[in-house]
Amino acid sequence: MTNVVDTLIVGAGISGLSLAHALQKEARTGSPLKILVAESQGRVGGNITTATAGGFLWEEGPNSFSPTPELMKLAVDVGLKQELIFADRQLPRYVYWENKLQPVPMTPQAMIQSRLLSFPGKLRALFGALGFVAPAMGDRLSQQGGQETVSQFFRRHLGTEVMQRLVEPFVSGVYAGDPQQLSAAAAFGRVTKMADLGGGLVAGALLSARKIRSEGTRLNS
Ligand SMILES: Cc1cc2nc3c(=O)[nH]c(=O)nc-3n(C[C@H](O)[C@H](O)[C@H](O)COP(=O)(O)OP(=O)(O)OC[C@H]3O[C@@H](n4cnc5c(N)ncnc54)[C@H](O)[C@@H]3O)c2cc1C
Repeated sequence: MTNVVDTLIVGAGISGLSLAHALQKEARTGSPLKILVAESQGRVGGNITTATAGGFLWEEGPNSFSPTPELMKLAVDVGLKQELIFADRQLPRYVYWENKLQPVPMTPQAMIQSRLLSFPGKLRALFGALGFVAPAMGDRLSQQGGQETVSQFFRRHLGTEVMQRLVEPFVSGVYAGDPQQLSAAAAFGRVTKMADLGGGLVAGALLSARKIRSEGTRLNS
């Protein structure tokens, strides 16, 4: 017997499952869809792995996410609203550097005072942030299908120190991935979009904030 489906989704990680959920939701308003999510492992979740033993429960993969409106909507949609635990945004983050836990600078003033970056490293980051940035090009980029990696993107914009001492610990904490292989646009979409606006990351951040404000005003009027 042939089993015909409208949509076959390969992989029951968060991407496959949320796609199936979105398609199913869409279909509820139109004609029903037959969706099959295929998974090669004996469980769903992909990287997301919750383990229990001896009365304890812990996460072996991701344990947090950035509460974007889309993700918050998905969490509420699938009935997880009561289980969400919000982190305190004010809590400091640290990077272990030169045998010491160094606070991650979260403000321009903290950046100036930080011992995590050297003076030349800070100057390099400042010039890059203000738009003194070489264009993305080169052989390696074309070998990667035109996509800049996280490492290439941040080295180009903010310099090697920022890449090694701030971005790399962040990437290993969030993606447990290799910044020399991860796509910058996929992992840091908001930041690469700011850079695409031109004039460096500071100008990009200001322009994108202005764009969000004017879109908000248009929606409210
Ligand atoms: C240790 C660790 C910690 C992390 N921490 C965080 C965090 O705190 N916050 C955060 O936002 N992100 C975190 N991440 C990243 C996050 O886990 C991933 O971005 C996300 O889970 C990827 O989901 P996915 O569905 O795209 O892929 P995956 O989770 O990899 O799912 C893909 C699924 O497809 C299946 N599959 C693959 N090929 C086939 C095939 N041919 N046939 C059938 N099935 C197939 C696989 O078995 C798997 O189940 C972390 C990652 C790791 C490894």
